[in-house]
Amino acid sequence: MFSKEMVRRGSQRSVIRELFEYGNQRAKIVGRENVFDFSLGNPSIPSPDWVGQELQTMLQTQTPIQLHSYTSAPGAEEVRRAVAEDLNRRFGTDYTADNLYLTAGAAAALSACFKALTTAPTDEFVAIAPYFPEYECFVCDGAGAQFRVTPPETETFQIDFDGLEACLNTNTKAVIVNSPNNPSGAVYTPQTAERLAELLRRKSEEYGHPIFLISDEPYRELVYDAPAPFLPNYYKDTLVCYSWSKSLSLPGERIGYVLVPPSLTDSAQAYAAICGAGRCLGYVNAPSLFQKVIAQAGGKPVEIEAYRKNRDLLCEGLKKAGYTFTVPGGAFYLFPAVPGGDGEEFCRRAMKQDLLVVPGEGFGCPGHIRISYCVAEDTIRRALPIFERLMQEYQSQP
Ligand code: PLP
Repeated sequence: MFSKEMVRRGSQRSVIRELFEYGNQRAKIVGRENVFDFSLGNPSIPSPDWVGQELQTMLQTQTPIQLHSYTSAPGAEEVRRAVAEDLNRRFGTDYTADNLYLTAGAAAALSACFKALTTAPTDEFVAIAPYFPEYECFVCDGAGAQFRVTPPETETFQIDFDGLEACLNTNTKAVIVNSPNNPSGAVYTPQTAERLAELLRRKSEEYGHPIFLISDEPYRELVYDAPAPFLPNYYKDTLVCYSWSKSLSLPGERIGYVLVPPSLTDSAQAYAAICGAGRCLGYVNAPSLFQKVIAQAGGKPVEIEAYRKNRDLLCEGLKKAGYTFTVPGGAFYLFPAVPGGDGEEFCRRAMKQDLLVVPGEGFGCPGHIRISYCVAEDTIRRALPIFERLMQEYQSQP
């Protein structure tokens, strides 16, 4: 009577959600402070004061009709204009309101892109491991297309270009990249961006149609050492999916966008297709109140110091304990290799000590774990001895 696939998707909790629920159960027994939950990517830095102030001012000065009405489907024009102007200031571009489609977060932006680009069930979208696992669901069930994954490059978590090239074929519609990356924390270097653009240009020419690049960027501003290259400036057929979920710590408010640059092949048609996809998916318009909030975000600093402190503390502690990893340049995840080489087994052993981390297997990168360090500093300090104990356990009984 119901779609089997939807029942399956709806009844299966993701490993991350499973861990989160387990943590809640354990907290009732041993106390919240004794559960070391590094499973979720929920920002721990509160949203900046100006967000709350802006909301208060709006509530005091605008009528309920002004605050809560539908906006135009792609988002209020003045808001899209403000976002375009901010991008232009930062990246030297010439975008207008008509290049932006506001969405309910990056997830909706991605879903709209996959649906807009899919013209046949044989179309393929290629992700680079390690990747955000929800892509698979958005591509296969959301858009009815094929999902492929390239092997990870585990030295630096840049791109295994031979692996990527081997994945491309005439059915390739787009390559999905995510820098800064969830789960590795890697930020692409300008050299990686150049090389990726060169490969996609060469393959597009060979196949006689563009391979689009979908750049998933909810962590764009969360960078510690060097900025993330802005990919539309490297490759003209780039669609950007962005959200303020992480940079302003507003994940529950569901606000983001798709950027369709004017350089994109058939840009106007692509924009119309994104609007059509949003309509078919029933998104109607991005949340009105938070459209007004993010219109004020341009030029304001993004707070990352607590994450940087956590990163440094965790890296130092895990290094001392004998773990190997690439120091993350962005986002709030660390992705070490595990002793024993089996991420799931490591997570099971960790769970027994109320330490919750996510196996790399679900991100297409076995033998690793994801540690979300968007937590209180004290949680890291108190969890480090457990990481140390686990390493010793492996050393004595591998
Ligand atoms: N892409 C990546 C890589 C993510 O980590 C997330 C959320 O954690 C999303 C997309 C979805 O972001 P949003 O909450 O803005 O929909």
